[in-house]
Amino acid sequence: MIRVNPHYSKLAASYLFSTIAKKVKEYQDSHPEANIIRMGIGDVTLPLPKACIQAFHEGVEEMASEKTFKGYGPEQGYPFLREAIATHDFQTRGISIQADEIFVSDGAKCDTGNFQELFAQDIRIAVPDPVYPVYVDTNVMAGRTGSFQNHRYEGLVYLESTEENGFVPSPPKEEVDLIYLCFPNNPTGAVASRAQLEEWVEYAHRHHALILFDAAYEAYIRDPSIPHSIYEVSGAEEVSVEFRSYSKTAGFTGTRCAYTVVPKKVKVYDEGGRVVSLRDMWNRRHTTKFNGVSYPVQKAAAAIYTEEGKRQVQANIDYYLENARIIRERMNSLGFPCTGGDNSPYIWVKTGQDSWSFFDFLLGKAQVVVTPGSGFGRCGEGYIRISAYNSRQNVLEAMERISRLKGSL
Ligand SMILES: *Cc1c(COP(=O)(O)O)cnc(C)c1O
Repeated sequence: MIRVNPHYSKLAASYLFSTIAKKVKEYQDSHPEANIIRMGIGDVTLPLPKACIQAFHEGVEEMASEKTFKGYGPEQGYPFLREAIATHDFQTRGISIQADEIFVSDGAKCDTGNFQELFAQDIRIAVPDPVYPVYVDTNVMAGRTGSFQNHRYEGLVYLESTEENGFVPSPPKEEVDLIYLCFPNNPTGAVASRAQLEEWVEYAHRHHALILFDAAYEAYIRDPSIPHSIYEVSGAEEVSVEFRSYSKTAGFTGTRCAYTVVPKKVKVYDEGGRVVSLRDMWNRRHTTKFNGVSYPVQKAAAAIYTEEGKRQVQANIDYYLENARIIRERMNSLGFPCTGGDNSPYIWVKTGQDSWSFFDFLLGKAQVVVTPGSGFGRCGEGYIRISAYNSRQNVLEAMERISRLKGSL
């Protein structure tokens, strides 16, 4: 008899995006004339930068001729891309990450989801609340949690991100072994200061713990005092893995390319307490289960690091950040405290009422779709997430419609 992984039955059904889709569809069906504006989506809207498209085309052409055709590439990524990453994303920022510490992949979702399989079953894990659900669900599937009770899994340590701590949790009192952090944060848009990251790195050293740092939104940082990489903090290279993605940076959500940094200095321990190289373990895992990102896609990704590529990427991010500024200012002026939107594409809005009621209210009265904060965790109750990924025209129109509700908000 073929039996299933019993841990899958613990997964709390993720009702968030399916419930939103259902509510929007019901509304559209009963109001066929309504022009609904979707401000809930965590997906980019601008096309790929021209420099990427050109390199992508060139890569495809190379595949068309016997002389330049490429079959399997290195599982870890082509040297031209790994070297460009090491140089432009790290070494020019004073970080000594090398090309052989970089693992190119088809997404930070897969990498953040897969990484947990390198660790023992009974480690203690800390996750943020609210959270990008991938960190939690992949550990549930792997059997590292108890059941789902009261909107939380037994056995996980939740790092509460609240108004009181500025949505940047401090290290917990108890000892944990694996810590998931994400800055700039999805969904809150909060960023961590150097001092706050130093606290985490110090904690990880003290407890021989490991930080998994998701920097998918680092390109949105405009405040020069905010670190783009956890490796800007000294000592982080011994206790942290960093995930990056071209999805939100350069519009690769549908094209697929990302990378993970596993420094050779990171120490992890076997059952006998002996030191093991995490970099070599991830290399083993990656080469066993992954066969590399397609060559034209890696060519397109490398074009991000050319002068024109950098300029075009910057222009796209500036466009989203201007959307974010408009949203944040308007929501603020309507009396809603907001976080995010200055160094991130998400604005986390304190509604002063139940997340889903506010969602229903905005859909019904303004035909604007947002994301209810409670869908990201218990601490998200009372908040909504508004995304800056939209056209300027839609953003302005959505903000006009919400403003007209002043008085009844
Ligand atoms: C969008 C996003 C990613 C990127 O995922 P890809 O698989 O690279 O598209 C990673 N982490 C967070 C928190 C995200 O929101």
